[in-house]
Amino acid sequence: MDYDIAVIGGGPAGISAAITAQSKGRKVILFEAHGFSPRLRSVAKITDYLGLPDLSGDELMDTFVAHLKQTDVKVVEEKIVALEETEDGFLLGTPTGQYSADAVILATGISRSDLLPGETEFLGKGVSYCATRDGAAFKGKKVAAVATVPDATAEIEYLAQICEHVYLFPRYNDFQQPHGKNVSVILEPPTEITGTDSVTGIYTNSEYFNVAAVFMFRASDPPSSFLPELQIRGRSILVDDQAQTNIEGVFAGGDCTGQPWQCNRAAGQGQKAAISAIRYLSVKD
Ligand SMILES: Cc1cc2nc3c(=O)[nH]c(=O)nc-3n(C[C@H](O)[C@H](O)[C@H](O)COP(=O)(O)OP(=O)(O)OC[C@H]3O[C@@H](n4cnc5c(N)ncnc54)[C@H](O)[C@@H]3O)c2cc1C
Repeated sequence: MDYDIAVIGGGPAGISAAITAQSKGRKVILFEAHGFSPRLRSVAKITDYLGLPDLSGDELMDTFVAHLKQTDVKVVEEKIVALEETEDGFLLGTPTGQYSADAVILATGISRSDLLPGETEFLGKGVSYCATRDGAAFKGKKVAAVATVPDATAEIEYLAQICEHVYLFPRYNDFQQPHGKNVSVILEPPTEITGTDSVTGIYTNSEYFNVAAVFMFRASDPPSSFLPELQIRGRSILVDDQAQTNIEGVFAGGDCTGQPWQCNRAAGQGQKAAISAIRYLSVKD
């Protein structure tokens, strides 16, 4: 394995987890997709973080990132788009790379999106979270792209270059048409992904589109999107009092495990997840 522990998410929970695990001698990698907690950075003033009163969310987050960068934690500023359990650990995929780790800590924050029916069922069988990584498999075919964020434009234009046709379902305001004559914009929301052994189409309430793949582009994917067997309640990952999920070797902390959504709790839970992951590894070693 490349790393002992992989942390997904670079908000207060993920950074706390990574620093704790690294300070206890573990080889740690942390993945962050969107500039280290856009959520906390959006807060004008945080007055209740222990020892650091009256900082803006941006300043508080910069303090955490500066601490992280003083350590030997390997930081990869890319989104995890694939996570697979193997015989002896986990494989983690970003749009440009693949990494392995013995244990994983999920610290992905709140996901505001719901899974589309069929999304989990067809994950890896036509459902993908990354065009750069998986698009080539659908060269010359018709595909769909469901985008909840504008920053997916480059990925959609890449699909338009290599695929026969792209049905684009933009799910955000101020949408701008991407380049590509073979991109049709569908304003009606998608309701279901369907297929047999792999994806064959996508439905709205009034139409059906025959496609070989559906690419989902969100700011934050629901945690079960890349680990379908992960137990979820509402939108939160279920953990026990040691931050262990139902999947051996996978731990979670912070807002992704539920309320209250607070930085002190997130940092504390990240630390707990790291300590539990270390205990798990010392039994496994
Ligand atoms: C308006 C507002 C006011 C708030 N006020 C306060 C306050 O006064 N006090 C307080 O304590 N808290 C406050 N909070 C809450 C605080 O921001 C959160 O509790 C805290 O940020 C949670 O930390 P976290 O690490 O769990 O998640 P986040 O900070 O959300 O971090 C999760 C990170 O994971 C990354 N990520 C997600 N998926 C992936 C992936 N697949 N690959 C790589 N990276 C990924 C995201 O980019 C993100 O950076 C406020 C929040 C808001 C929105």
